[in-house]
Amino acid sequence: MNLLIIGPQGCGKGTQAKRLSLKYGIPHISTGDIFRENIKQKTELGKLAEDIINQGKLVPDDITFGIIKKRLLEDDCKNGYILDGFPRNIEQADMLEGFLETEFAINISTKDKEAINRIAGRRTCINGHVYHVTLNPPKKMGVCDVCQKPLFQRDDDKPETIRKRLKVYHEKTKPLIEHYTNLGKIIDINGEQPIEKVFKDIVKKLER
Ligand code: AMP
Repeated sequence: MNLLIIGPQGCGKGTQAKRLSLKYGIPHISTGDIFRENIKQKTELGKLAEDIINQGKLVPDDITFGIIKKRLLEDDCKNGYILDGFPRNIEQADMLEGFLETEFAINISTKDKEAINRIAGRRTCINGHVYHVTLNPPKKMGVCDVCQKPLFQRDDDKPETIRKRLKVYHEKTKPLIEHYTNLGKIIDINGEQPIEKVFKDIVKKLER
């Protein structure tokens, strides 16, 4: 099962990818998480990506594809994978398709207004566990349920950067919907429903 998820920031890509990963026993690969881990570890890649990410721009395609290619060659991807945040433009999709064939591209549609609302309330801990202040709050305000670390707002989730990221989504990423529709691989999902319902809709369409 070679899957990828497309959708604007805040549509729930990460949440759904984690669930699909558990259900089907395939790894969840998030380029955003890989970059954030590198920033945390202060690697060369992290240093290069940090400014770009904080400006809401895309990391260059060759660098991003290099990371994905290496990750997809790992053993745990043999039976499939779920990509979250890659590809982000047509060029990346072409690079991916020249390497491995995608089975389904899941498009989780969410209007900008809803996406902005969700991102504004998103909080995360240093280990990448994600919450929302009202939609998915931690048990104790400001503290991660899993690792007890403090929760904070990602720099690139601040309002001015969100707007830039959504603009990039509309200009660069959204054309992927048509691209994968033309390939007969798109699965369209309404992202403005409860998490559980979105998940059920995805599974139903995948197993149709
Ligand atoms: P995300 O967590 O997927 O929203 O990613 C956070 C940031 O990482 C994005 O705003 C980009 O700056 C960068 N990034 C993640 N995935 C990609 C990608 N496929 N291509 C280029 N930049 C990316």
